[in-house]
Formats: sequence, C-alpha cells, structure tokens
Amino acid sequence: MEQSYCPQCQSELNPYDRRDRKCRDGNGDQKVLVIRRLRCCNQDCRRIHAELPEYLVPYKRYAVEVIAAVLTGTAVIAPNEEATRRRWRTWYKQIRDHLLGVATSVNRILQETARVLLASPSIRAPYSIPLLTDFSLAELVRLAVNTGNWITTRSAIVTGPLSLYNQAQTQKK
Ligand SMILES: [Zn+2]
Repeated sequence: MEQSYCPQCQSELNPYDRRDRKCRDGNGDQKVLVIRRLRCCNQDCRRIHAELPEYLVPYKRYAVEVIAAVLTGTAVIAPNEEATRRRWRTWYKQIRDHLLGVATSVNRILQETARVLLASPSIRAPYSIPLLTDFSLAELVRLAVNTGNWITTRSAIVTGPLSLYNQAQTQKK
C-alpha cells in the first residue's frame, strides 16, 4: 500500500479505523463502501483523515462524474431531485475559484520544483507538469483535498496519482 501523507503537516499517516461510506452512481444506485481512516503520526497534529477513492467528493453522496455531468449539463438520469442539482451548482459556484486557485498554485510549485530539479544535471524531473486546462472536477477536488486546501471543518484525503505532489513536498524538506 502506498504511503499517504497528512494534508495539514505532510507527516506520514497510519491506518486508524474503517467507516462505511454511502455512494450513488449515475443510475442512482447506492452502494456502501468501507473507507479507511488514517491518523497523522505527528504528535502535534494527530488529525484523522478519511481515505476517499478518486471518484468521491468529500461529503457528497454522488460519484464525482455524476456531479460533473450535472454541472456541465450532460446528466441523463440521476439525481432526480432538482434541489440536489441546484445545491451542486451553488456549491460549485462558491468553490470553483478556490479550486482553480489551488490548482494554479500547485502548478506553480510543480514548475518551480521541476526548475530546481532540472538545474541539477544528475536529477531529472520525476513527473510531467499538468496543464491547468486539463484538470477535471475530480482532479481539482483531489488537488484541494490532498494539499490541505479543502474548505471544510472535517478532514479527508483522496488517494491516487496526485498524492505524488505530497511526496514531492516531503522530499523537498
Ligand atoms: Zn498531520
């Protein structure tokens, strides 16, 4: 299992417990996932983070592609309730600039990291730099969550390729 890092302090996270998490797909079918919760090993932090699969948005019941489909007006079936769709649009309107801001600053850090690494001839940049226009809603969410920039009072992390960013941060220390 890949090591995960605390979005708040970048310390290592250890398995803590497991919780049920409900999720609905594009057909409105609900399934119950068992989600790991991880605890920060830093004694001054000790935060607990829920480990979400890439297709979930923290505290949203529907899979991220369902939400994205509603936001882009391409949703076919779920969710049936207009109130839910309206809530997502309002949510996205509120959070969009923040998500893009996080992506922009992460992009800047990656470019700076690549520049520093490339300045040293023996080390090659270990990853390519993502283009901002290529970010999907899922990726924007993961970036914000995994860098500790998710706007919420509770904590979560999303596992996936972008956790590379945390490793890069840790290596820089
Ligand atoms: Zn921590």
